[in-house]
Amino acid sequence: MAQLTETFRFGAKCSPSQHRRLVEVCGMCSELYNACLESWRGTYAWWREHHPDGAPLPRDRSQSHFDRLKMFTGVRRDCPEWSAVSVKVGRGVLRRFHRAERSLYKRCQTGKRPGYPRFKSRHRWRTIEIPDVSPSMLVPPGTRKNRSDRWWRLAVKGLPRLRFRDKGNRLATALGCGARVVDLRVVRTALRVEVHAVVKHSRADNPPAEEPVRPVGVDVGLRSRLALSDGTTVGARQPDRGTIKRRQRALSRAVKGSRGRAKKRSALAKAWRRETERARQADYRLVHHLISSYDGVAVEDLNVAGMLRAKMFSRQISDQRWAALTQILEHKAEKAGIPCVRVNPANTTTDCSHCGHRQPMPLGARVYACGDCGMVMCRDVNAARNICARAFPGSGGTLPDAMRTTNFRHKTHDTSREPWADGHRRTVSPEQTNVYSSI
Ligand SMILES: [Zn+2]
Repeated sequence: MAQLTETFRFGAKCSPSQHRRLVEVCGMCSELYNACLESWRGTYAWWREHHPDGAPLPRDRSQSHFDRLKMFTGVRRDCPEWSAVSVKVGRGVLRRFHRAERSLYKRCQTGKRPGYPRFKSRHRWRTIEIPDVSPSMLVPPGTRKNRSDRWWRLAVKGLPRLRFRDKGNRLATALGCGARVVDLRVVRTALRVEVHAVVKHSRADNPPAEEPVRPVGVDVGLRSRLALSDGTTVGARQPDRGTIKRRQRALSRAVKGSRGRAKKRSALAKAWRRETERARQADYRLVHHLISSYDGVAVEDLNVAGMLRAKMFSRQISDQRWAALTQILEHKAEKAGIPCVRVNPANTTTDCSHCGHRQPMPLGARVYACGDCGMVMCRDVNAARNICARAFPGSGGTLPDAMRTTNFRHKTHDTSREPWADGHRRTVSPEQTNVYSSI
């Protein structure tokens, strides 16, 4: 059985008093987290003080996740604040701490910079996690406990009874097909309160993938965000940073500690949030287009984090959201039962996609003119065709006749009209949407 995890996000209705309660619980969560961190640090500090020879802390001296869960039972007994809240809220905090602890050790083992977990301010704690959800915690509409015919309700002890709409019945459909909710999250974002439901589907394994009939290779770039092996290109993202810049400037001019500054800080956070949401939605539209038009997708296995660390073009690279897009693409392909293959990116740009000849391609050369067979093609599309051929050797080899001619002019594509254009059409100049205008 294959398992597929999916997260549904809903904007919740939240009254001012419900919001105050959420802030209160978030504060409790951050205190619990900080207490765990404090005790962990204390144990190590004590051990090092008494064993200056550097002997490692024995296992039975350190606290495990399980020990903390046991201790939390005592905390709930003694502290009325915590006993008024579902035990799972606290367990969510402990799990988060456990994750932070484990990933610290993992970073140490892999030789990365350790980066010690930090104490968290109560104002910055924004997510309440509820692991191992019991079915009664989400009340669907039209039941005895929820007479409303449209609103779902959250029913977790100690948390406000938030309500949200399941537009398109995505959650109801998933639950009807035998999926179950494993985690719930209540998130305070700058714009709204959200309820996230993490759902696990168990389903029969996909039949072994057949060789796709209509596969596509995807090359990511800076001049055009994507180039597909069939010649389509998607223009570069042009994030609208005007509002963010203006609000950032207003914030830095405000007097520290003033009420105006708090307002401006929240306005800036909202602007960032809107920008991110817009970008995410555009990514989903683009992925939907790819998944519904092709039956196999090949992408480069790029080390985007490494490229960002290298500082060269890092701003431009992060603006194009390659990693986020690939992640969404892989998830949606898996859901649709379509193969999504990552291939080694080495030499995809320098090889000729027609005859396999290899020649150097400096960054400035936008056209691939093969020195051997004479094929002329846009650099990115040539790379996309190589990526496709590497992933699906059986099905991407033939070259459309139109592309064989030496004075081949590439099909241009006005991306500003496409359904995935993300709402900044006016800021995109013609030469940015049409990378081939220079050919
Ligand atoms: Zn060639």
